[in-house]
Amino acid sequence: MAKNILVTGGAGYIGSHTVLQLLLGGFKAVVIDNLDNSSDIAIKRVAELAGEFGKNLSFHQIDLRDKASLEKLFSSTNFDAVIHFAGLKAVGESVQKPLLYYNNNIIGTINLLEVMASYGCKKLVFSSSATVYGWPKEVPCTEEFPLSATNPYGRTKLFIEEICRDIYRSDSEWSIILLRYFNPVGAHPSGYIGEDPRGIPNNLMPFVQQVAVGRRPALTVFGSDYSTKDGTGVRDYIHVVDLSDGHIAALQKLFESKIGCEVYNLGTGKGTSVLEMVAAFEKASGQKIPLVMAARRPGDVETLYALTDKAENELKWKAKYGIDEMCRDQWSWASKNPYGYGSADSTN
Ligand code: NAD
Ligand code: UDP
Repeated sequence: MAKNILVTGGAGYIGSHTVLQLLLGGFKAVVIDNLDNSSDIAIKRVAELAGEFGKNLSFHQIDLRDKASLEKLFSSTNFDAVIHFAGLKAVGESVQKPLLYYNNNIIGTINLLEVMASYGCKKLVFSSSATVYGWPKEVPCTEEFPLSATNPYGRTKLFIEEICRDIYRSDSEWSIILLRYFNPVGAHPSGYIGEDPRGIPNNLMPFVQQVAVGRRPALTVFGSDYSTKDGTGVRDYIHVVDLSDGHIAALQKLFESKIGCEVYNLGTGKGTSVLEMVAAFEKASGQKIPLVMAARRPGDVETLYALTDKAENELKWKAKYGIDEMCRDQWSWASKNPYGYGSADSTN
């Protein structure tokens, strides 16, 4: 029997790619999403890309803070595990609106965990972030590094990790995998699904892609005076399809062994600067990306990349793609969908 997986936030960027990999891997997927930062067109496209497996996908527009709707869903469907992506993720907005972030991310997660517990579904994969390493004393980051957060978004990740550790301590029937993502970029190689942020993008590659299609005049490079190879910030960019496959590996681990509450870095282990990433994108797209050099962005760290040995050894997962493939697929998505899932007049 195919395992039935509940995917919260499955209409979003990472969620939609993971749902596709789930379907292709023979799982059934039930997506819930409030569509706050996504479009149901992504769900339709995932179903199309999945071909005959598309029939194993269903979608419910539900907000995690609406506990009654969650209860109703769990009372009518048995889930073998949950992958929990749903949450707000804009660092700057979280500083302006901390209560919104605590309400959405923390209350939403507590509702989900309570409903899971009361229906006896105790297997969870949660989207954490490398942001929980704060400004690390050294790189690469291992899972044992001390944790800290510099903004409300990061604190929601840290608190949810702690909540997960506490519920496992209180009830050893839970099996939980916390995945600390580094910097997901790129899109499905078909160019049919990808990242479609609302408003002005906060992250590097969505901004670069909007410059490339003529929606923004230039990329502002935040800081060129870091102690890095070329002065710009260094990150561990990971292809979103590799990241999605990491979730399938995590699920398999949950089904195969009694894991407790474990944490894994998902990255490539390689550090790439902003200028290197822009150069790779220019090469892949043939588009020139005009740059404006500016001051450091408050709260940014200088260099962050992962040690990925734990995921490689225990999940038998390793990223396959490099930055050239990431940029190739980002451009394929951007050039085919310059306005994401919307149209020129529905997007700014
Ligand atoms: P995304 O915004 O594209 O996807 C999140 C989805 O959750 C959206 O579709 C949104 O509509 C939905 N959502 C938000 N609040 C909800 C609620 N209360 N109820 C139901 N649905 C809700 O973001 P993403 O990039 O796909 O990120 C997925 C997860 O991974 C998030 O938890 C994010 O914090 C985490 N993460 C992302 C990155 C990154 O760089 N993209 C890095 C580390 C961690
Ligand atoms: N960055 C930039 N201009 C932008 C967005 C990001 O120079 O418009 C830089 C940022 O300072 C960091 C890197 O790109 O060094 C990755 O930033 P992103 O926001 O994508 O990820 P995070 O900072 O969360 O790792």
